[in-house]
Amino acid sequence: MALKIRVQSPKVKYTEDYIEAQYEYQTTNVTEDNSVNYTVTPVTTNLLIRTQLKVPKLGLMLVGWGGNNGTTITAALIANKLKLTWETKNGIQKANWYGSLIQASTVRLGRGKGNKEDVYVPMSWMLPMINPDDIEVDGWDISNMNLADAMQRAKVLDINLQKQLIPHLMHMKPRKSIYYSDFIAANQEKRANNIISGTKFEQLEQIREDIAEFKATKNLDQVIILWTANTERFSEIIPGVNDTAENLLNAIKESHSEISPSTVFAVAAALEGCTYINGSPQNTFVPGAIELAEKHKTFIGGDDFKSGQTKLKSVLVDFLVSAGIKPVSIVSYNHLGNNDGYNLSAPQQFRSKEISKSNVVDDMVQSNKILYQPGEKPDHCVVIKYVPYVGDSKRAMDEYTSEILLGGHNTIVIHNTCEDSLLASPIILDLVLLAEICSRITFKLADTKDEFTGFHSVLSILSYLCKAPLVPQGTPVVNALFRQRAAIENILRACLALPPENNMLLEHKVD
Ligand code: NAD
Repeated sequence: MALKIRVQSPKVKYTEDYIEAQYEYQTTNVTEDNSVNYTVTPVTTNLLIRTQLKVPKLGLMLVGWGGNNGTTITAALIANKLKLTWETKNGIQKANWYGSLIQASTVRLGRGKGNKEDVYVPMSWMLPMINPDDIEVDGWDISNMNLADAMQRAKVLDINLQKQLIPHLMHMKPRKSIYYSDFIAANQEKRANNIISGTKFEQLEQIREDIAEFKATKNLDQVIILWTANTERFSEIIPGVNDTAENLLNAIKESHSEISPSTVFAVAAALEGCTYINGSPQNTFVPGAIELAEKHKTFIGGDDFKSGQTKLKSVLVDFLVSAGIKPVSIVSYNHLGNNDGYNLSAPQQFRSKEISKSNVVDDMVQSNKILYQPGEKPDHCVVIKYVPYVGDSKRAMDEYTSEILLGGHNTIVIHNTCEDSLLASPIILDLVLLAEICSRITFKLADTKDEFTGFHSVLSILSYLCKAPLVPQGTPVVNALFRQRAAIENILRACLALPPENNMLLEHKVD
């Protein structure tokens, strides 16, 4: 593969198969003495980071393929691949990947000629990444509607684009899926006409067969499975049932009622050696599912796409708290009229969303002991209402009240209107592209005989794209959006032995 960026440095070695970077990873250890005295020790770890160059042939299997997100991401992949254009009342619109971090955002590579201009490149140029045009798509849905009809049902895309896509989508038909009526809202029942019968174990086996069949038929090297089906209620964590990998597999054999469809999919993915990403808020990754992924060295990531209101919150609260301003009340109100909104109008499914939206400010609040006493948090309330008329065009209204200097108050009010699935689809693409590149990056301590090892099964690098980031147990959860973005950017830079972006610009500040 032709590399767009080549680093000239004795620390970077290019072979036919990989890029190898010698990287000095700098961290800082702190010991605290009753929060009065701090002893700080800079630590350097010398790493070798290897990135495989060969990009695999990738398949994406969507659970909930016929939903608004499922049809929209499939449509976007085809529209971009075929470079479709369509007439709108504002003129000709071209297919694009706006909203995708990897495809439509840039990173600063360094200073250009004459030390004057910053040079920015698309993030996708940093390392050899999958071209979205080459992704094969397949999936499951409890509704048997073909993708063309499902796209029309979703009412997301411009009609002139829909007309061009119909011939490409009409032959795509979701595979039968797993439906247990008490996990998604009862109002979804009439959609459920495409269901795998049998025991939970038989259903698991069928999903595994589907994955293997897709992989073989399309001659794929790797398959990523992504849940973009309806939000389920939370599963209860029951010792002996879903607390370990072994118990979970046994519970599936016994068709235990507390095993959700999404957990069965996650188990199938691990057993088939596939990455599994959860785009919804429910706790698919019960401890047994995490252990199983770790055992099979497969990646898992989630939870819940961070698309609109929460994304803004993870910027705004970071800005306020890091400016020394104290948010004390955050009230978030939404209304939407798509099927996701209909499902979320049921209390247990809303509760899953409420939980996933609730912890997003925790790390920022905890970072500032001047503003917040231990355990103190802003009041934080989330409301979601179903209003059919607005369809996929979700409205989000937020009020942030903060304490400012000498007892003053500052209130910021935001109104956000946006097609939900047009925000979520590029996030789905990013999750897939990032998860894939992570499978080609390995690390080892320099100057040792250790083997190269990959990222931990729980891919916390996906945090930027998730409302409630899943991280390896006992490791910090970062919600602040720009910290999350910097992690991605700097890890990509590390693979090329480039220092982290520090924004110091000392070369322009010192005489
Ligand atoms: P949708 O209701 O349009 O689509 C969900 C699809 O999943 C439906 O076609 C439904 O038939 C199918 N389904 C339900 N249970 C299934 C199962 N067990 N197996 C297979 N298919 C099943 O919803 P959407 O707008 O596409 O959203 C999908 C999910 O993404 C929701 O859980 C939503 O909360 C989450 N999400 C969306 C956004 C966004 O911005 N759009 C953001 C964050 C999270």
